[in-house]
Amino acid sequence: MKEIIYDVAVIGAGPAGVQAAVSASHQMRHVLVLHSGKVSFSRGRAYWSKSVEIEDAPVFPGIIGPHFAKELMKWMESRPVVDFMLGSENRKTGIDIRDGMVAKIIKNGDLFELEASTKTLKQNTSSEMASFKSRTVVVAAGFDDKWPDIEFDPNAERLYKQYATVFRYAGNRKGWHVCIRCDGHLHVNEHLALLGIGDYIYEAAIGAQDFTDKITILTNGRPHGMSPSVLKQVKARKINIIETKIKRHIGEKTNLLGFEMVDGSELFFHGFLVDEGLIPNTKFLDGWDYQKDEEGLIVANEDMQMLDSNGAPIPGLFAAGDIISGERNLIATAFALGQEAGLSASDSLRQWHFPD
Ligand SMILES: Cc1cc2nc3c(=O)[nH]c(=O)nc-3n(C[C@H](O)[C@H](O)[C@H](O)COP(=O)(O)OP(=O)(O)OC[C@H]3O[C@@H](n4cnc5c(N)ncnc54)[C@H](O)[C@@H]3O)c2cc1C
Repeated sequence: MKEIIYDVAVIGAGPAGVQAAVSASHQMRHVLVLHSGKVSFSRGRAYWSKSVEIEDAPVFPGIIGPHFAKELMKWMESRPVVDFMLGSENRKTGIDIRDGMVAKIIKNGDLFELEASTKTLKQNTSSEMASFKSRTVVVAAGFDDKWPDIEFDPNAERLYKQYATVFRYAGNRKGWHVCIRCDGHLHVNEHLALLGIGDYIYEAAIGAQDFTDKITILTNGRPHGMSPSVLKQVKARKINIIETKIKRHIGEKTNLLGFEMVDGSELFFHGFLVDEGLIPNTKFLDGWDYQKDEEGLIVANEDMQMLDSNGAPIPGLFAAGDIISGERNLIATAFALGQEAGLSASDSLRQWHFPD
């Protein structure tokens, strides 16, 4: 069988990756989308909105995460791979969608080789690897939010089981949130508890002022670590800081009502926002010389090309969505960056360019 060489390989099937794939296939490219959903159970950030409707994603009036992910998949499936002739050349266009968690990318001559595990990952079971070849790559793997260290079980064999109690409340209306811009409107004039430390957590408090002035900062046993100027504002805004370690959740079904602290005290609130930082999904880029910021997010130019440490574009390597440094981590932004990356990847494959 003839080996398939894709025009564009997209890593991730969130809004950024899906838009990149659709835009590239719209330019008659043969596109591969690899997404880790069924392999690692990590289905992208939007998927977390379990009962809270996303209200500002084009063009849905309101949609929960799992339904949104299904609609993205349907959109890609509407562009199956077909053959066509361009002059005398036989070409393919459309989107091939595969389960695959990309573990490594290497460049071999002009081609990228992507190695991906294709079977559900389980402890003590060997992974099944497959290899894919492509002329360009769009990295749209996003990031994972760091989960709060509350009722954490380090002995549980799988990550999501280690955080089972935490996950019970994730993405629910009265559960916990990670994006004040996304979910702040659910708690207008209500008491919001924010979890995090340093000046970083004050960023969340800055966003929260559009919705409420009843705010508590929880540090879960760590010193607050805020700078004097930030602390002055925190005090002026009458934001309470609690540095006691949290012992357990106080909840009812998927509603999170408050916390019991290790000293026996209790705190009740209407909304809980976690802002502990992020983990970029870029392990497969280890060994590549590319620019990233202090959080590990990718620095790209206006064509969404990844840059090497000298600031030069890395030929054939593009990125889009939450994984891009300095952009708003929101759905419509991810779509826009995805379109730019998909079109740039497609344009880079043209034979003829305007003469210099
Ligand atoms: C709880 C919550 C609520 C939110 N609410 C809103 C909202 O109301 N409005 C709004 O605009 N935004 C909201 N957001 C933000 C929004 O979800 C993100 O900005 C958006 O999903 C980013 O899109 P993305 O495609 O860049 O990344 P993601 O959606 O995170 O998608 C990443 C994709 O990459 C895949 N992947 C990761 N690693 C690999 C790998 N190694 N190999 C293959 N595939 C991989 C994942 O499976 C996934 O398909 C919310 C986020 C959260 C967490």
